[in-house]
Amino acid sequence: MANELKPLIGIPSRSIWDGDRNLRFGLLATYTRAVDLAGGAPILIPLQLSEETLHDILTRLGGLLLAGGVDIDPKEFGEELLPACGEIDTARDATELWMTRWALAERQPIFGICRGIQTLNVAAGGSLYQDIASQLETDLKHDYRVPEAKVLAHAVNIEPDSRLARVLGATHVEVNSLHHQAVKGIAPELRAVAHAPDGIVEAVEAADDRFVVGVQFHPEWLLDEDGRMARLFEAFVSSAREYREIKNNGTG
Ligand code: MN
Repeated sequence: MANELKPLIGIPSRSIWDGDRNLRFGLLATYTRAVDLAGGAPILIPLQLSEETLHDILTRLGGLLLAGGVDIDPKEFGEELLPACGEIDTARDATELWMTRWALAERQPIFGICRGIQTLNVAAGGSLYQDIASQLETDLKHDYRVPEAKVLAHAVNIEPDSRLARVLGATHVEVNSLHHQAVKGIAPELRAVAHAPDGIVEAVEAADDRFVVGVQFHPEWLLDEDGRMARLFEAFVSSAREYREIKNNGTG
């Protein structure tokens, strides 16, 4: 009675105001490619939908993928906006935070990348550094731009007893780095499981056995260079398939 269908992986989109001042919703193709290669069926989720509609989408998903992007409004973690905080997409904040809180409560698998680790942490009650350069001391460059998305910027040391270390099969990897914000206060239900040599949090995951993983680096840009990065998407899709099977069998 195996479910042969690929699990749906929902990915909230971002706001794009085009040249005609029309609002579009979009996503970098690297995310949908990574999910497809890992055996999942990626679905873009529009912004500005009602909570009822978001709920109806979530109840059909196997997992929620939180992509990279612009900064989260600091009011979402109770701080005033600092001058060094970047562009904000409040429609995206609203959609992603609502969906993430629902998925956390329902134990639905969540995988957060870059902005996504930050969204996950804020949704669960944590906080962020709004700008590494002005708020932290570091000799490392974390804020490479998209043309340098494959540059291995720094090492990451991973806790040996973490899900992340099990999936990657490693406790030390070299990663890319395209962020100027970082996790500050860790949410109560999450634990920091990887750090850069300067102490910046590079991964979090659920303290229990849910597949809830956030990484500050961008595995989707490194699939062709480092086969371990594909395992992250495969483990996520595998958890989404299991979650869906439990739900479809009516025991969840
Ligand atoms: Mn980094």
